[in-house]
Amino acid sequence: MCSGRVDMKFVLRAFSKGIDGVFIGGCHFNECNYIANGNYHALNMTLLTKRILEYIGLNPERLTMGVMSGSEANVYADHVNSFIKKIKELGPLGKSEGLDKEELNARLAKVTKLVPYIKVMKNDKLGTFLMNEEDYEGLFTKDEINQLFNDMVSYYIDPAKCQACMTCARRCPEGAIISAKGQVHIIDQDKCIRCGSCFAGCPPRFGAISKLVGEPVPPPPPEGERAVIRKGKEKAN
Ligand code: SF4
Ligand code: SF4
Repeated sequence: MCSGRVDMKFVLRAFSKGIDGVFIGGCHFNECNYIANGNYHALNMTLLTKRILEYIGLNPERLTMGVMSGSEANVYADHVNSFIKKIKELGPLGKSEGLDKEELNARLAKVTKLVPYIKVMKNDKLGTFLMNEEDYEGLFTKDEINQLFNDMVSYYIDPAKCQACMTCARRCPEGAIISAKGQVHIIDQDKCIRCGSCFAGCPPRFGAISKLVGEPVPPPPPEGERAVIRKGKEKAN
């Protein structure tokens, strides 16, 4: 597979399955066979994922990328041997970082769910081609990743405005919207991947969905108090 096809989710899945280290092998830069420069995409993705690993408390050195051509078996062997040596020094995943299995899996699951959001937010940089290897050093910074998570976007349905038209629930790719006829709709924040489709789809005449940036989401109305207040009938209720 082209290294450009290696998605952040593949890497996180490998760690979720208990793999101690992930090595991505790509072609030499500027020697892409298909002129698609997938190896640059792979490098950008690797650098971003290393920062994400760091953010969730895993050693970023557990992920690396090396470049080589199909005829450089010796280069491949050198890369792999030195990576194996490094991983042996680091020790088992999670244990070396002071995380028990449950905590490790919870952190990986949480961040895996956010991959689409992370990719959308970092789309410009993920598509960057920097000709100078040194310039990659600061492509993604620790502060930037902290800010990405601190300023996380959430979506909230205002129970006073929702008219239960169900548009948002039909658009949600994750089935994250609790939907019932005549009932105020509710976003299950644990399932939501923050794609914004519901926000874009809620009819402007209702405008029931808000985008919150780095703010806590208000709790939903309790069950039994979710009947829709029809527009124009507010006073009667
Ligand atoms: S942002 Fe809206 S549409 Fe997207 S996953 Fe969350 S609830 Fe579903
Ligand atoms: S699209 Fe808007 S009005 Fe319709 S159910 Fe969703 S939140 Fe409510």
